[in-house]
Formats: sequence, structure tokens, C-alpha cells
Amino acid sequence: MGKRGKKEYLYRALILKRAGFKNYQDYLASDLWNKIRAKQLREHPQCHGCGEIASQVHHGKYTLPNMLGHSNEHLFSVCAGCHFTAEFSQSGRKLTPQQATGKLRRNRRRRIRLERSVLAVGLAERRSTVDTEFRDRLEREN
Ligand SMILES: [Zn+2]
Repeated sequence: MGKRGKKEYLYRALILKRAGFKNYQDYLASDLWNKIRAKQLREHPQCHGCGEIASQVHHGKYTLPNMLGHSNEHLFSVCAGCHFTAEFSQSGRKLTPQQATGKLRRNRRRRIRLERSVLAVGLAERRSTVDTEFRDRLEREN
């Protein structure tokens, strides 16, 4: 991890200390985080990456308001698969929260493009079916 990533986790440690937590594990086990997580998943039940049901919450950035539950800014609902894929590089290196969010967004855009093209193919198929039915009817009526 580069300088920026280290700074990111140092900043998280400072926020945690200020909020009275020993470390990140302590925070993740807290009622506070459970409430934040449950609220995020209730309000945004779909994975930001693949659109399936989300079970985890990704921090795009650690801020005092989002870690204290005062804001859901930079929080993303994700499934375990997308979360893991986003957090690590192909060589298994842990990425910074921003890099992970970038990967998550790219996956989301890829999925949306795919969904659109599937939809377009579906519409084209339906249109040609309608055209065929119309032509058959015309032929029968004439
Ligand atoms: Zn997903």
C-alpha cells in the first residue's frame, strides 16, 4: 500500500481513538457499527457493484460523521464477493478505500452497460416477433 493508503488508515485510527474505540476490530464489533450497517443495508439493500442482495458495507472514505453514524456519505452496500474483489488487487495487495471504491464503481458501470444491452436485445427480439405476427395477420386477412 502506498503513502496515501497508509495515511488513510492512520486517519481512521485517529477517528476511532477519538470516538473511544481501541481499534477497528473493536469498532466493527460495536453496537454503533451494527446500527450503522443495519440502517445502510435497510435503505440500500442492493449491492452497489452487482445489484444482488448486499450483506456488507464498504467505506469509500473514513470520516468522523460516517463512523459515528451521523452521515451515510461514502458508505456503499455490497455483497461479500464484490467487497472482496474491490478491496484487493489481482495480486492480492490490499487497496486503499478510494481505489476499492473505484473498482466497485467500474463493476457497477460494467453491469449497467450489460443490463442495457440485454434489454436492447430483448426489445429488438420482441419487436421482430410483433412484426412477424403483424405480417402473418395481414397475410391471413388478405
Ligand atoms: Zn455484489
